[in-house]
Amino acid sequence: MVSRVIPVEPFDLVIFGGTGDLARRKILPGLFRRFCDGQMPDGARVIGAARSEMDTAAYRVTVGEAIGEFGGDSAVDCDAVDAFLERVEYQAVDAKGEGGWEALRGLLRDGMVRAFYFSVAPSLFGDIAERLRSFGLADAQSRIVVEKPFGHDLASARSLNATLAQHFDEEQIYRIDHYLGKETVQNLMAVRFGNMLFEPLWNAQFIDHIQITVAETVGVGGRGEYYDKSGAMRDMVQNHLMQLLCLIAMEPPSKFDPDAVRDEKLKVIRALDPIDYHQLVRGQYGPAGDAPGYREDVGDARSRTESFVAMKVHLSNWRWAGTPFYLRTGKKLRARDSEIAVVFKDTPHSIFGPEAGQHRNVLAIRLQPNEGMTLDVTIKEPGPGGMRLIDVPLDMSFADALGPDAEAPDAYERLIMDVIRGNQTLFMRGDEVEAAWAWTDPIIEGWQSRGDVPKPYDPGSSGPEDALMLMHRDGRRWREIKA
Ligand code: NAP
Repeated sequence: MVSRVIPVEPFDLVIFGGTGDLARRKILPGLFRRFCDGQMPDGARVIGAARSEMDTAAYRVTVGEAIGEFGGDSAVDCDAVDAFLERVEYQAVDAKGEGGWEALRGLLRDGMVRAFYFSVAPSLFGDIAERLRSFGLADAQSRIVVEKPFGHDLASARSLNATLAQHFDEEQIYRIDHYLGKETVQNLMAVRFGNMLFEPLWNAQFIDHIQITVAETVGVGGRGEYYDKSGAMRDMVQNHLMQLLCLIAMEPPSKFDPDAVRDEKLKVIRALDPIDYHQLVRGQYGPAGDAPGYREDVGDARSRTESFVAMKVHLSNWRWAGTPFYLRTGKKLRARDSEIAVVFKDTPHSIFGPEAGQHRNVLAIRLQPNEGMTLDVTIKEPGPGGMRLIDVPLDMSFADALGPDAEAPDAYERLIMDVIRGNQTLFMRGDEVEAAWAWTDPIIEGWQSRGDVPKPYDPGSSGPEDALMLMHRDGRRWREIKA
């Protein structure tokens, strides 16, 4: 396949937290892969910044190790690694102090894009934004990339938005949600708005319900302290699942332009009904054999934080009135499986009689693993013996359809390149984030005021029994969580 990589202008990208976990696992290996794909022009430079005192040579060694560990197949080309490392520099900087800022300013070049990636704890976002201005590092070409979590609730998100707005215009702020960088998520928009086939059916008249599942097999791991203050609702639903819901439910924007898309997403969040307590299930994974349960993982035997949430939500608008959206996400589930399933209604009348069974078209959009789409279509089962119907998938796995060269860039790679290009379409606007918190805050407050205790579930299961009942009550069922 012919490479369609679009080169970008030369840039200076400063990664605050350049020695941290996210930088090592995602940002730096991602930049390296973009470099290998020819997307980093000669003048492009990456500057790591953190408190640790080290020189550029030492930093290059750590970046080389990170690429070796997390860079994937492309990391085997040592010449490419060396060439990439020549573009990498390091400057020790204290986000809360004065040290290192003048030197960092001295490293930046005039007349080209400057991107500052805040890959540090959220408590440092304001300090860094302020110093970028006060030390004269930011100019009209500058942009900042802000990692999740973006606030802990509506009040903190508003305060963070206000702090950033003191130093940067909204057009310069890139709030990252890596789910939006996934190839399939963008393909969702291509499928909806690039084909005549789907959009006329994309409403409550033809769609029975929509399921969004983001299932993980891992527990809270080393993030116990952070996670226990957050829980699945804040960590996953408020951002990733809400963003997926927005893309699946939004009206067609007038053009594929950042504000046109984000205006439509915002309308979806604002159309969400307040959620009924009975339509919500919280869960917490228990121990299994020698494997610790959630409470052991976070070191609090009385923790009431949820590691699983399932819910039924409604959108009050013309398109979706009467079609529910079922959302679920959790840790230590049966498989790592993220999927959006659009389940169409039955045909109005079956000419094949009841013995043909119930058959429905399902458009399943797989986010991970194996990004792709499947459309279940009902056909006649081949062979003699009358008209028996079966559902067969029209499979649109990208690797199969487009060939091995079509391997999609990792979400972080794509999003960082969008920052350099100045394209905010796949980044959350401040009002979107606030609207999402405004919807989730009352849910969390309700749990707290009632002293709600999450339902235990077995690791390796599909979550608590009550989550299955949430669907069964409506005569529906969750799709199987499978790898
Ligand atoms: P981390 O491993 O703890 O790294 C934090 C980084 O910040 C280190 O490079 C650290 O280096 C630097 N740092 C700390 N205090 C500093 C200061 N005062 N001035 C300058 N640098 C300072 O954290 P992380 O996991 O990479 O996460 C970074 C951000 O990404 C967080 O907001 C997190 O919520 C978000 N995030 C992470 C992941 C992930 O998979 N890790 C996923 C999604 C979002 P020094 O100690 O040398 O200063």
